Amino acid sequence: MVSCDYYTLDSSHQLCGRLHTSMLAENMADTRFLERAEDFRSEDGFQTNAAKIICGVVELCANHENMHIITLAEEMLHSIFFLGNIHVRKCSPEMILSSGMLERVRKVFPRPLASYSTKLPRRTPFSCLLDMVVTLRTEEDTEDDIKNHLSNLITRLGLVGDHNLIAATICVSYYTDDQHKPMFHYYGASLSSTGYKERKILIASSCVHTWHHYVSLAVMEKTPVTFIRPVRCRAFSVDSIHTEKPPCKPCRELFKLEHADPPTGNNIYGNCAEVESLSKLLWNEDERLRRVRDRTGIKTKAIKTLSNRLKEFGLVSYDADEVFRPPPTRRI
Ligand SMILES: [Zn+2]
Repeated sequence: MVSCDYYTLDSSHQLCGRLHTSMLAENMADTRFLERAEDFRSEDGFQTNAAKIICGVVELCANHENMHIITLAEEMLHSIFFLGNIHVRKCSPEMILSSGMLERVRKVFPRPLASYSTKLPRRTPFSCLLDMVVTLRTEEDTEDDIKNHLSNLITRLGLVGDHNLIAATICVSYYTDDQHKPMFHYYGASLSSTGYKERKILIASSCVHTWHHYVSLAVMEKTPVTFIRPVRCRAFSVDSIHTEKPPCKPCRELFKLEHADPPTGNNIYGNCAEVESLSKLLWNEDERLRRVRDRTGIKTKAIKTLSNRLKEFGLVSYDADEVFRPPPTRRI
């Protein structure tokens, strides 16, 4: 359980476990924000889509007083503002949101706005969105239901253009050895739609701050991971969410994934949905792997790689050790 203190804002806007629903509902009525989003449509899909996603997430928070959702929303906002800051056409929060909307977001989620230009994200906004959908599932919801919820949410957001911040692929992983109990499904998203520079930074940041070190080792050193229990890892295109597709070539080799069809292509190592999904599986399910020491010095190498990437792209305001970290509710 996260600490209430964490969400203490100013005296008039204390969340303390409950999001101020009326304030967020008011945000939704900010028509200037929608007009602002429309203004940018012809210029660059990023601003429009970022604004629509923020609006959608604020609405989600207003409708679900769930601490984990609020935590994910905060992480997602930070990730969006970070991507805007390093976007090919730099896009500040002021450019994404109207001043009224911005001030309201600042009151509810001050940390993302205070740190997007100095702290790195651990993952993409879409990855947070996917976790929100999974978090909001009911006991009865099946994998198909979760995929339908995700698909419907994306449709409702009405995103446009190339920079739609939506991953092309999601993946579901789970162990299959215990037939007598339902195995928890771990969902992951690819890094697609974020841009080349963004992908490089996010992969490097994930290797340091997010992924299980076996996964980081696989991505960085191309060292295969051997699972000690049988695992199923199924990928789906977001735009055809119920049709399973084969893993890409690197995933198939690194994680020894079985599939009857040939691999789908040669992604950059670490770009895939499989990586995030399998990392979550390892963190959450495997005590033995969780205790493994970093014998290979992978974290040191990962920090060096991340520092080099930051230098390469001229992102001098960021430090490889400084990552935006919401309070831990579950390892990702
Ligand atoms: Zn892959």
